[in-house]
Amino acid sequence: MVTRALNEVETKQMLGAAGIAVTPCELARDAKAARAAAERMGYPVALKIVSPDVVHKSDVDGVRLGVATGTAVRRAFDELVAAVRARQPDAHIDGVAVQPMAPPGGVEVIVGVSVDPQFGHVLMCGLGGLLVEVLGDVAFRLVPLAPRDARALLAELRGAAVLHGVRGRPGVSLPALEALLLGVSALVERRPDIRELDLNPVLAYPDRAIAVDARALVAVEA
Ligand code: ADP
Ligand code: MG
Repeated sequence: MVTRALNEVETKQMLGAAGIAVTPCELARDAKAARAAAERMGYPVALKIVSPDVVHKSDVDGVRLGVATGTAVRRAFDELVAAVRARQPDAHIDGVAVQPMAPPGGVEVIVGVSVDPQFGHVLMCGLGGLLVEVLGDVAFRLVPLAPRDARALLAELRGAAVLHGVRGRPGVSLPALEALLLGVSALVERRPDIRELDLNPVLAYPDRAIAVDARALVAVEA
């Protein structure tokens, strides 16, 4: 099967149109356009490299967080492009994605979809960062998910206590996370051409949950 990768901007457009909470995200092709986008969105912003040849943007120094002024945006644009060119000289660079910074203090959650040859779309969810990487604390459900599936999946995570609030940290909105999982399930149910979807991370807060990074793989006609 021939597949095509959707970049962060394209993936967030698709997710946003499906009613899934994402940070608004605009592709800027030069430093001036990046600054204009940042002024429209309000500071601080995050800037990220957009390239079909870069999957993990941080690995190539392709992410700048908390950029707070127009001058800093222009400088960060040039730095990002230079950093990626230096590490991956043959990477094609589409530009830089500009987006508002999500507030600090969110709990990092990852949400993914893959396709099982027998069962079709499978949704995966886990707590971000070390819990996923070291402990593999994730849970799976077949698509489509019913509301009770979303609830049960979150309750199943070994680190579920983190969602409920630990050591004086407030808990996160479980209904907001559940709504996001159900939104992703509904989207891929309508779109069998989506072969992979990664929302990594989703930031969960006491009152909402929002995806700040996303990528997708879709099937194309050969
Ligand atoms: P990568 O391709 O390396 O996964 P990400 O887009 O996930 O790049 O960015 C790396 C990290 O930066 C994220 O895990 C998250 O912690 C933080 N981050 C990214 N975008 C935002 C944003 N809009 N607001 C706040 N933090 C962000
Ligand atoms: Mg990421």
